[in-house]
Order: sequence, then C-alpha cells, then structure tokens
Amino acid sequence: MISFTLSEQQHQLKEMTNWFAVNEIRPISLKADRLGYVPADWLENINKMGIQLNTTSLQNKIDNASKKGKKVREGNRLGVIATEEIAFGDPAIALSLPGAGLGGPPIQSSGTKEQQERFLTIFKNDKPRWGAYALTEPDAGSDASAIQMRAKRVEGGYVLNGQKIFITNGRKASWVVVFATVDRTLGRVGQRAFVVEKGTPGFTSPALAKKMGLRANETAELLFTDCFVPQENLLGGEALYEQKGSGKSGFATAMKTFDSTRPIVASMAIGIARAAYEYTLNIVKKEYPKHGKSYYIALDLLAEIEAGISAARLLTWEAAWRADLGLPNVKEAAMCKAYAGEVALSACVKGLELLGPTGIQGHIVEKLFRDVKVFDIFEGTNEIQHLIIARRQFEPYGIRV
Ligand SMILES: Cc1cc2nc3c(=O)[nH]c(=O)nc-3n(C[C@H](O)[C@H](O)[C@H](O)COP(=O)(O)OP(=O)(O)OC[C@H]3O[C@@H](n4cnc5c(N)ncnc54)[C@H](O)[C@@H]3O)c2cc1C
Repeated sequence: MISFTLSEQQHQLKEMTNWFAVNEIRPISLKADRLGYVPADWLENINKMGIQLNTTSLQNKIDNASKKGKKVREGNRLGVIATEEIAFGDPAIALSLPGAGLGGPPIQSSGTKEQQERFLTIFKNDKPRWGAYALTEPDAGSDASAIQMRAKRVEGGYVLNGQKIFITNGRKASWVVVFATVDRTLGRVGQRAFVVEKGTPGFTSPALAKKMGLRANETAELLFTDCFVPQENLLGGEALYEQKGSGKSGFATAMKTFDSTRPIVASMAIGIARAAYEYTLNIVKKEYPKHGKSYYIALDLLAEIEAGISAARLLTWEAAWRADLGLPNVKEAAMCKAYAGEVALSACVKGLELLGPTGIQGHIVEKLFRDVKVFDIFEGTNEIQHLIIARRQFEPYGIRV
C-alpha cells in the first residue's frame, strides 16, 4: 500500500525545484529579506520561466494526462514535494511566487466551472499575478466562525463592509477570496465566500504589516467600504448555499481549503528545517572536531534534527497522499502542520546554538529563525491543530471536544 519511492514525475519535479532553489532563490534570499520585498525584475524573469507556487496548475496537467489514461491524481503530492524544495531556497520568496496561492483551493473546490475558468487561468500570463485568501479579522483569527465582515444582499450582487488583516499577497493580488456573513446571528451558515477583484470601488489596502520574519513577503490589511461585488463573484453561486442540510457555507469552504494547504505549509516548514540543518551541519563538520567533547553534543543535536525532518516529511506526504486519493485527511493535515512547525523551530534554535557567533544577524540561520515563528501561527495555530486532532481522538467515544 505504501511506497517510499518517488515516481519518475515526482523525482523530476524534486530535482528541478531543488535546482531552482539553490541557483535562483538562495542567492537573493538575504537581499530580499533586507529590502523587505522580492525584486520585481527577478519575479518577472521567473514568471517567464513558468515557475509558480500553484498546485492547481500542476493538478490540471496531471488531470489532463489522466484523462488519456496515463496518470493518477497526484497534485497534492507534487505540491508538497515542490514546496519543500522552494522553501529550502527561501520561505518568504516561496510565498511571494506568482500564482493563486491560498486563494486557489477554495475556487478549485467550491467555484463554478465559469469561475474556475475566469479566475484560475489568469496566471498563464507574461506578467506575474497573484491570488489571495482573506479570512482573518481583528476579532476573528482562530475562531473563523466569529467573522464580522458584512455582506448585504442588493440587486445584482452584494455590498461588503469590513476589515481583513494579515493577508498574504493581499495588496498585489489580482483577486482575493473574501469571507463575509450575510447574518451574524446565523453563525457559520450565514457565511459566504466572494471573489473580489483588484480595482473594485470600495476595496483598498491601507497598510502592510512590518514583520519580524518572512519580511520579503507582503502581508496586507484590506478594507471594504460599501464595496459592491457582482452576483457572479459569489463563490459557487447562490445554489451552493441554498442546498438545505448540505452544510455548504463560506465557513465550510474556508475550512476545506486547509485540507490541501496545511500539508503545503508543513512542507515549507520542512524546507526551512532542512536549510537550517544543512548550513549547521557544514559548519559543525569544519569546526567542531577540534572541540573534543562538544563535538559529540553537536552530533547528538544534528541527529535529532534529521530524524525530526524525516518524521515530519512522512506525516506530510501521508496527508497529501490522502488528499490525492480523496480520503479524509483533516487529522493528518493538522498533525503534519503542527509537527513540521515544531521540528523547523527546533532545527533553527539548535542551529543557532551550535553556530554561536557565526549565527549572528546577516546569516541564513538567523533569518530562518525569524521566518519560522509564523509557522505555528498561520493556517491555524498549533493549539488549534491540537484541538482538531483531539476532536478526532475523542469522537469514537461520543465525546465532543
Ligand atoms: C505572516 C502571516 C500571514 C498570514 N496570512 C494570512 C492569509 O493569507 N489569510 C488569512 O486569512 N489569514 C492570514 N494570517 C492570519 C493567521 O491565520 C492568524 O493570525 C491565525 O489564524 C491566528 O489568529 P490570531 O492571530 O487572531 O490569534 P488568536 O486566534 O487571537 O489566538 C491567540 C492565541 O490564543 C490561542 N487560542 C485561540 N483559540 C484557542 C482555543 N480554542 N484553544 C486553545 N488555544 C486557543 C491561539 O493558539 C494563540 O496562541 C496570517 C498571519 C500571519 C502572521
């Protein structure tokens, strides 16, 4: 049932993305961190090379091949393999690559055919373009059911009013999947998802966050003031929300997204862990043999990091494999997301400890140490992942957690 061998296609993708990470991304990693953005000419070049952080386009290629009877669905597995390599180059640049980003999965899972065509094909373009996903608000982070953003039904569409914060690539995105409620008293059932296009009157981005880590990646505040969104931009169309008892709502769409994006975020954390580990290993190889006893302490820490990386990767691949097969993966996605983040943080902390003065500001492990913190925050904090796992542990006993 389980194979630990990569298919030819997976192997080729891994080699290609690793080459790209080492030769194109890593050389600009520290510079982009200092600048606080990824240089536009670099993004234009790599866009022309067809590199995007976009599992949807990968999956489409595979689906087309499978129609001809050649391949099975493996877009999620290809996504985690490629993402690990690209984040190994640099996680902030990985998040800044052109593509639908977090906005892709909700359109793929809940959008109509027409919406998928309209919003997901814009990335095959000469100019780099981005999509984004806006759920978080000042008073609704972990508890997504608490969103306050209002969607008022009017003739021909909806009017949105509210604020979203911490939105990855939110200002530069061509469109943003935005979650709002038609009636706060209805809770989750009242939520709807809309695709709001850049330039829509009433849609602005007043500020960008100044962050400790992932500095090269844009994190935006978005403001919606009497922002009219046409009916055809309601994700899935009205019919999706009218199926009584179907459980369909903006909330369900938001949560479904995480089944495929949490393994992707986990694979980014694994890429960070590997980058910190590899840099530290090289220094230890050169410096530590001279230091007698401390050499063995260093070897012990490095062994622990490598075992952690392998374990996190196996959890992540399992979650992606289940998603490809259409099997439930909520628990596995939560497990790999939480565990990979812990492994990556530990790899950076231990790396800094072992590097000593070598690890001071301006070195890759110092940067990774700042970058890694958010991996136990976005896409659901670690406490929330643990809660998701606990719910599934207690479910068989009829206990609601
Ligand atoms: C760099 C960055 C990029 C981001 N990108 C996006 C994006 O593209 N789109 C988007 O919508 N959001 C994005 N986010 C937001 C992110 O998803 C939220 O920050 C996250 O969900 C946590 O919400 P919060 O910050 O409001 O913390 P809170 O929900 O206020 O949590 C605060 C603390 O309380 C704990 N806590 C909360 N509830 C519970 C509970 N029930 N049980 C136990 N502990 C609990 C949390 O674990 C946490 O430690 C991004 C955030 C950052 C920092």
